[in-house]
Amino acid sequence: LQGTACEATLMALLAARCRAVRLVQATDPERSEADIMSKLVAYASDQSHSSVERAGLIGGVQMKKVASDDSYAVQGETFRKLLDDDKKAGLIPFFFCATLGTTPSCAFDRLMELGPICNEEQVWMHIDAAYAGSAFICPEFRPLLDGVEFADSFNFNPHKWLLVNFDCSTMWVKKRSDIIGAFKLDPLYLRHENQESGLVTDYRHWQIPLGRRFRSLKMWFVFRLYGLSGLQAHIRKQVGLAREFEGLVRADRRFEISADVVLGLVCFRLKGSNELNEQLLKQITHARRIHLVPCRLSGRFVLRFAVCARTTESCHIQEAWRHITQLASQLLQELGGQLGGQLPH
Ligand code: PLP
Repeated sequence: LQGTACEATLMALLAARCRAVRLVQATDPERSEADIMSKLVAYASDQSHSSVERAGLIGGVQMKKVASDDSYAVQGETFRKLLDDDKKAGLIPFFFCATLGTTPSCAFDRLMELGPICNEEQVWMHIDAAYAGSAFICPEFRPLLDGVEFADSFNFNPHKWLLVNFDCSTMWVKKRSDIIGAFKLDPLYLRHENQESGLVTDYRHWQIPLGRRFRSLKMWFVFRLYGLSGLQAHIRKQVGLAREFEGLVRADRRFEISADVVLGLVCFRLKGSNELNEQLLKQITHARRIHLVPCRLSGRFVLRFAVCARTTESCHIQEAWRHITQLASQLLQELGGQLGGQLPH
């Protein structure tokens, strides 16, 4: 259990870096660590969270963005081409961070295409499913996870969508020795009798801090309180509410949906310019009744409606939409007056 997805990504990248150095030196023992490190290259989608790029900065390695497709997901073919070009240029690809549920639009990278490439090329595949991961407790969303078997590490945040209080980020590592091997130090004052017995898992080797909070306790309480069916019901209800909001947007011809709605996030905008949508968001923010965080998709300024509070009900969705459309109508009227009615009706 890590604190955040950022820490999990960083841990994965550092472990991958260590493994890459070991792998290269296994065939070329004369090659120095400094030389190998200077050639290492990591990859992530151009839709990946900023924390992935940051992990590259902290880890002191080059990080390249892989172009996503029309649905904002990374395809295997695009990654393969970039990777081959880099290898030809003498670089050493060592880490790929796939995202399941990207921050801007909740897109899903194509694991079934990316995974085999990573495994074949000995590139560590980390999966960042910070938000979407909670949905995988529902069987109907499990297909989104197909290809996870290729991953070296996987992470999601129960503190985002599984009703566990911040901070709580769960991380799985396929081969524990890869991660422990990268960070293991054993000063005398931290030694204990069970160290070599295999009976105790010493999680200090799995994380940046030495000390650790008792995060599993709060997870345990949430699991006991809701049970599997309660948590599944929570996810299903929120996805249903997002679909309800999507339906309202689709029924209003002045608006458009900007990305597939898969879970609890709806990306939408007024048909029209970016400035128009920026203006609408400004008004929504100033009114202080609901809070939306925007993103940019294919150059377009997009509003993101995220259903995530435990107590959200259909009446809140309806009320939020009434509020948004009221502000939109006012805005269009004001601008329509100024522009002679060129705006969407
Ligand atoms: N990864 C993704 C895909 C996210 O959407 C977020 C959002 O906050 C993060 C990582 C960062 O999560 P954390 O705050 O747990 O580091």
